[in-house]
Amino acid sequence: MSYIADPERYQQIPYNRCGNSGVKLPAISFGLWNNFGDEDTLSNQRQMLMKAFDLGITHFDLANNYGPPPGAAEANFGRILKQDLAAYRDEMIISTKAGYKMWDGPYGDWGSKKYLVSSLDQSLQRMNLDYVDIFYHHRPDPETPLEETMAALDLLVRQGKALYVGISNYSAEQTKKAAAILKEQGTPFIIHQAAYSMLDRTIETGLTDVLEENEIGCIAYVPLAQGLLTNKYLNGIPKDSRAAKEFIPFLNEHDISSDKLQTIKSLNAIAAGRGQSLAQMALVWVLQQKSVVSALIGASRASQIEENVKALDNPSFTQDELAAIDAILK
Ligand code: NDP
Repeated sequence: MSYIADPERYQQIPYNRCGNSGVKLPAISFGLWNNFGDEDTLSNQRQMLMKAFDLGITHFDLANNYGPPPGAAEANFGRILKQDLAAYRDEMIISTKAGYKMWDGPYGDWGSKKYLVSSLDQSLQRMNLDYVDIFYHHRPDPETPLEETMAALDLLVRQGKALYVGISNYSAEQTKKAAAILKEQGTPFIIHQAAYSMLDRTIETGLTDVLEENEIGCIAYVPLAQGLLTNKYLNGIPKDSRAAKEFIPFLNEHDISSDKLQTIKSLNAIAAGRGQSLAQMALVWVLQQKSVVSALIGASRASQIEENVKALDNPSFTQDELAAIDAILK
């Protein structure tokens, strides 16, 4: 039987306006960086996407290189979309990116117009889409003139292949320059995708000010520090965790130092005092930050998405709780 979405799905999650744009994003969005490659089963991927959508998560984030192998996440997402979610396309914000190495030779990486234009064409084919809602430049390119990269984003909007554009991993200074160019071109630049969690507060030192000044929304990626900010690693490394999976190189045993574990345990105690899991507290904590409109989570199973969305039942902090968290993170 084909999938029918839960009729109650829009009662579960707040939707926040993304900068000064017409777009509202769910407070929690879902990213397909891991667990959507060819090493993972399509049935689990399907279950996660259906669960997310049933919970009111309307925003799905991809990139050309997500896999493994690169491109697989878009292809798998495209399959599930076609089979189960096609009727809901207009209820979804689908994003993709280009900026990291995707294919061999000088035209498959960084920020040239040549790379961005052909990469988005490939992404659209893999996902079986006519357009994406947001197209990002994935990381700054130190060699290509910023004007060229920003002109490529503008072109793709004018061609109707993307409705809005974003940038990711740009510093405060680089974002200021990009925003000025995009404004002059009249390009709908609405979002910055930046790493932000209790374990990585870099954006607080300048980027959020620039985003606020330019009325750009921030979507916080890796808000759970890849799973460190959950109860998962409190008593060792479970076999089915990201840190234990050899084909995922991004989180390893040595990332889980005893100092970090101590921090996580102390944070876990504060979360328990709030009646939340650590994952839930970590998510509402990033949403406290100015400019942050959505926490962009990953998951390896549908039950994690369910737990994470429940975070929004207790979204506010007392001053004492915030001070206690700051003291732990110092
Ligand atoms: P998170 O920090 O949300 O980590 C997700 C991982 O945490 C899951 O795979 C799972 O790990 C674990 N987890 C999630 N919920 C729970 C829970 N309730 N209890 C226990 N464990 C839990 O984010 P990701 O690192 O997955 O990144 C999220 C998204 O951000 C990506 O999919 C991508 O869209 C985006 N991103 C963007 C980048 C950029 O450069 N723009 C870079 C990186 C990510 P496990 O698998 O061990 O179960």
